[in-house]
Amino acid sequence: MIRYALIGLGNMGGGMAAVLTAAGHTVQAFDLSSKALERAAAAGAVACASAPEAVSGAEVVLTMLPAGAHVLEVYQQAILPHAATGALLIDCSTIDVATARDIALQASAAGFAVADAPVSGGVAGAAAGTLTFMVGCPEPVFAKVEAALSPMAKTVVRAGEAGAGQAAKICNNLLLGVSMIGVCEALALAERLDLDPERFFEIASASSGQCWSLTTYCPWPGPVETAPSNRNYEGGFATAMMLKDLRLAQGAAASVGVSTPLAAQAQALYSLFDSLGYGEKDFSGLLQLLRGRLAELT
Ligand code: NAD
Repeated sequence: MIRYALIGLGNMGGGMAAVLTAAGHTVQAFDLSSKALERAAAAGAVACASAPEAVSGAEVVLTMLPAGAHVLEVYQQAILPHAATGALLIDCSTIDVATARDIALQASAAGFAVADAPVSGGVAGAAAGTLTFMVGCPEPVFAKVEAALSPMAKTVVRAGEAGAGQAAKICNNLLLGVSMIGVCEALALAERLDLDPERFFEIASASSGQCWSLTTYCPWPGPVETAPSNRNYEGGFATAMMLKDLRLAQGAAASVGVSTPLAAQAQALYSLFDSLGYGEKDFSGLLQLLRGRLAELT
């Protein structure tokens, strides 16, 4: 059994804490929100009064926080000064590549093994212990990282050195964000051309337009039973989250001088959808904006 510290017990961290305690591990938990802390304690975690207290004596220190600034602050004020010698430090938040690399440098200089390990799988994956972790860390550290994450994981994959996990996550979500808009545009056009969208789904699924956004996550309600489109675009990957990841991707692209014009367009479209009040809806709900049927989205 492993003694974890887990800082950040929100939608994702709360589920991760519950999965770890259910598997018999000790979780020393901290969150600025007392409600989040109470929920984690009810799931069997040890509620701590501060981040330094949570970190104290832990073998593995996990963070699941909103953005790079939060992670950097918690590392500098709580983790690096208070983590036990030999503790393994893993940040599971989605943050910018530059901050992830900065944190890795600081942690390594302080003598810690450290990894960035952002996730795919969402709130449902966190609650079920079926997340995919994309890891950036030195090769010799990976086996320990994999062992520490495996109770919460379906897959743990090493992307490369420090920051590579974050790079993998934002590049994947850039691709996903763009491909979903392509699928939405094709479905909206099929409809207006009097081609039954469900028939188009069947044809494109077996043709060169086939992709995950179409066949696993179809934005048109009906063809894929498990897709959020059949639940009024609830309970999937929030548009606000997609927007966050596209902003990170655009920032990273600008920092290395790479041109990503389709991702820029995608960001603008999701931003519009968000500003119209649909930030909590699944990102595939953009279909209804392109169809001019936003009124049907409640
Ligand atoms: P959330 O806002 O629900 O939770 C974040 C938690 O961090 C909050 O409870 C907040 O109180 C706490 N927090 C903030 N600053 C803190 C500090 N200094 N010390 C202690 N606690 C602090 O967010 P979430 O949905 O759980 O997402 C967490 C991370 O996971 C984000 O980086 C997000 O991009 C990533 N992620 C989320 C999803 C998703 O579907 N929600 C999917 C993949 C990745």
